Amino acid sequence: MTRKNTESYTSTCCYCGVGCGVVVNKEKNGSITVEGDKIHPVNKGMLCSKGINLHHTVNDKTDRLLYPQMRYNKSMPMQRVSWDNALDRAAAVFKTFIDKYGPDSVAFYASGQCLTEEYYVLNKLMKGFIGSNNIDTNSRLCMSSAVVGYKKALGEDSVPVCYDDIELADCFYVTGANPAWCHPILWRRVEAHKAANPQIKIIVVDPRVTDSASIADLHLQINPGTDITLNHAIGRVLIENGDIDLDFVTNHAEGFEAYSELVFTKTVHNAALICGVSETDIRLAAKYIGNANGFISMWTMGLNQSAIGVNKNLSLINLNLITGNIGKPGCGPLSLTGQPNAMGGREVGGLSNLLPAHRDMANPMHRAEVQQFWGGATINPQPGLTATEMFEALNDGRLKAIWILCTNPMTSLPNVRLAEEALKKAKFVVVQEITNRSECLPYADVILPAAAWAEKEGTMTNSERRISYLNKVIDAPGEALPDAEIICRFAKKMGYKGFDFKDAAAIYAEHVKLTEKTNIDISGLSYEILKERKTVQWPYKKKSALHGTPRLFADKKFYTPSAKAIIHAVPDELTSEMPDARFPFILTTGRIRDQWHTMSKTGKVNKLNQHYPQAFLEIHPTDAEALQISEGDVAVITSKRGEVQVKAKISTQIKQGVVFLPMHWGKVLGNDLNRANNLTSDKIDPMSKEPDFKFCAVRVEKY
Ligand code: SF4
Repeated sequence: MTRKNTESYTSTCCYCGVGCGVVVNKEKNGSITVEGDKIHPVNKGMLCSKGINLHHTVNDKTDRLLYPQMRYNKSMPMQRVSWDNALDRAAAVFKTFIDKYGPDSVAFYASGQCLTEEYYVLNKLMKGFIGSNNIDTNSRLCMSSAVVGYKKALGEDSVPVCYDDIELADCFYVTGANPAWCHPILWRRVEAHKAANPQIKIIVVDPRVTDSASIADLHLQINPGTDITLNHAIGRVLIENGDIDLDFVTNHAEGFEAYSELVFTKTVHNAALICGVSETDIRLAAKYIGNANGFISMWTMGLNQSAIGVNKNLSLINLNLITGNIGKPGCGPLSLTGQPNAMGGREVGGLSNLLPAHRDMANPMHRAEVQQFWGGATINPQPGLTATEMFEALNDGRLKAIWILCTNPMTSLPNVRLAEEALKKAKFVVVQEITNRSECLPYADVILPAAAWAEKEGTMTNSERRISYLNKVIDAPGEALPDAEIICRFAKKMGYKGFDFKDAAAIYAEHVKLTEKTNIDISGLSYEILKERKTVQWPYKKKSALHGTPRLFADKKFYTPSAKAIIHAVPDELTSEMPDARFPFILTTGRIRDQWHTMSKTGKVNKLNQHYPQAFLEIHPTDAEALQISEGDVAVITSKRGEVQVKAKISTQIKQGVVFLPMHWGKVLGNDLNRANNLTSDKIDPMSKEPDFKFCAVRVEKY
């Protein structure tokens, strides 16, 4: 594409999992501008506040890392070195630890913002050549409960729905999510659908009155953590009302009897008391769902980031299954991916318990297939360390070296002060980054400068399985390199064959070949096809339709051994850290509209910083009055793990007894008292290993 005085390239927004198409214009002076791609099927030209300001993050190079740096011990200053010096050193240290302590003494911690090609080579290097499964990403903090939920209910980590189902649905159940702020363009589609069809019903479940709740027909302002109780109660009313799909639960699902028995053990009245909502509202929600021809459930971190995250997911998916709202137009469970390519990462097996193309690590045949394809080391059948486990292992000395790329765990991990101590104890730390503002850099032995969005090519997959190609538009500054190239250069320094890729297209070609004959088969796909068709949805086999497969399970055959979906009768016990006399409030954390993750990109944009210039504590007026806290007073929030000091924002939009902190702020000028994760609990879901970011006990005092 060209415009006068500019060259224009298509790409995909690198923030949330909605996956909006953008057109990146390269101006004559070398800077870029960004606009929404008017013919992109996801956003049709629209962009949210973050997407429309993307170019500022690329044009402002003042914080960019420009060349490799290294030091021989942590008391010495960093020195500029060549790429060869830096990678030789990293390879020598990794080899020493692997020889002395075994392959599990090293780890890679990456990101759901990595491109699929980057994920692929990293996973291949670690699982296929180093011989350890210690590769995990910050997707563990984000979507891993949904992954396990889908696998247990549908037999595979497969989102059945496409965004075009939004305009076909007549009931939305939005729970543990604030898409008006966190997935804005997707929400614009829901809003437009509601505006054109006022009779459709929107139910929002959230302890806070969010912007998403403002258009809801029904807002269930539940007590934090009571999601399963609520979903079971709605399931019970659906059964009582006869609003279930008998054919589906009899012929295409298993487990309905046990589920039915379980949900009838609690009255709707008792469930309402536990959830802190009225029985009438629970019955109304069930009526809306029961009356719908097309019912979509939508969720994200409120369900996933929980010590019972998998069970929360299952209790929600159950509502789609018992009503037969799956595999048909306008219905299904739609998990909203937090990051732009968490889905692509899962495709290549980029978590410590996965193998490429959704293969199962515990399955010897699956391991053999991948091993034979890669021709490297024997694949270890034991899952590797997950995100939080890596930092525990650094703390107790099991893990000697960690390579952190494209993520900022010193802000984003739960109980983050413990993670800081762990990184101090690490024998060797490599940080692969774009910005000199990463809080990991003070701990690094080697710093590797990486190319940013628009400075490299590759692919990403959004929440609806839609794969997009991202053009390289400009060169990276200084000596920064694309992440995939850095990993391949390192693999060659380690002496491994199989990393001599000519370009990103060659990596992609190898990746798609490995998906052949799996449920996510994209073996028919290439860069040429993606460039020509813009986007496709997997599966995309050799003879797939033009744009792939919009919707899964139309034949009602699931990926389970029986080919039936599984309705799980999950318990509703909450295992989070409960409030007590010393810590009487429940703290929940979350995102704000104009910031992204740990602000390394959005924090550079003045316009975006104006929405909320600093961290704050949202607290109910009754609680604030009891604590003699007025609007703008500094509040001290303390948990068993640490403290935060931020200004109070008094609001009736939060439940009494619950307080909210945004998760974006880390250390500001060396001060970490804005950092929500000083407080959060390191409890994790036992199945998904996802942390309990949304629930811990705190005390609040006036400063
Ligand atoms: Fe980017 Fe998400 Fe906004 Fe779309 S909705 S422009 S993908 S941040």
